[in-house]
Amino acid sequence: MDIDSKPIVSLEGVSFSYNSQPVLQEINLSLFPGKFIGIIGPNGSGKTTMLKLISGILTPQKGEVKVDNRNVRTIPRREMAKIISMVPQESYVAYNYKIKEIVFMGRIPYINQWKGETIPDYQISYDAMERTDSLGYAEKRIHQISGGEKQRVQIARALAQTPRILMLDEFTSHLDLSYKYEISKILQDALKKELKCIISVFHDLNLASFCSDQLILLNKGRIETIGTPQEVINEYNLKKVYRTKPYIIQHPELSIPQVIM
Ligand code: ADP
Repeated sequence: MDIDSKPIVSLEGVSFSYNSQPVLQEINLSLFPGKFIGIIGPNGSGKTTMLKLISGILTPQKGEVKVDNRNVRTIPRREMAKIISMVPQESYVAYNYKIKEIVFMGRIPYINQWKGETIPDYQISYDAMERTDSLGYAEKRIHQISGGEKQRVQIARALAQTPRILMLDEFTSHLDLSYKYEISKILQDALKKELKCIISVFHDLNLASFCSDQLILLNKGRIETIGTPQEVINEYNLKKVYRTKPYIIQHPELSIPQVIM
């Protein structure tokens, strides 16, 4: 069997509760390499929790989460940091670091305690800032920049980590229109070049449709449906899950569905 036909991430019978509140129930899912996967669903449907389970931040009470066919619980933290990097929804950096220092933190899993940082570590960080258009404020401090600029810095840090899987939680919430699409294209490009898989939570269904090869629609902690944007974004599914009747139109240039309220 070709290595790429095996799932890179799988959830097998996964259930998770916070205290006694069930959040995800009996999730079975296989994600394959080469895909941009979008997770959508209403507030509280379990999207962020699913990301945290895949990255090993949370452990399910039932079932198994596997990355590269290994239970994430058995993967040491440093090794996990080379496999997955995460761009969180909101990131508060307590110490007022310079942007270039924050991006460089992506290299920490690779730095040998005896040899220290290397020239390639600096080059990779520089490239990540260049790709996300954050070089212009590399010398500024994190508390001096806007929300959108912070999101680009976090994406630069995550790319500098050179993961195989990049996970993002609503990475566009503070980005303006041009950066939304620009960053989406940078991520799609990274998927072609170096990443094995991107898994992103989306609030914005139109951007989810634009970016994703495959969409997972969550509803009250269960997978309502999974498929291409064309298969998932339709009036029936959205009405059932979001309890409102949206209108779906086809994008005039791209063959993807777009939602208007
Ligand atoms: P989504 O990302 O789809 O909005 P989440 O996965 O963040 O959903 O949350 C799912 C449910 O779990 C929500 O009801 C939320 O209130 C609850 N929840 C999330 N984080 C915690 C936590 N740390 N402690 C307790 N409950 C939580």
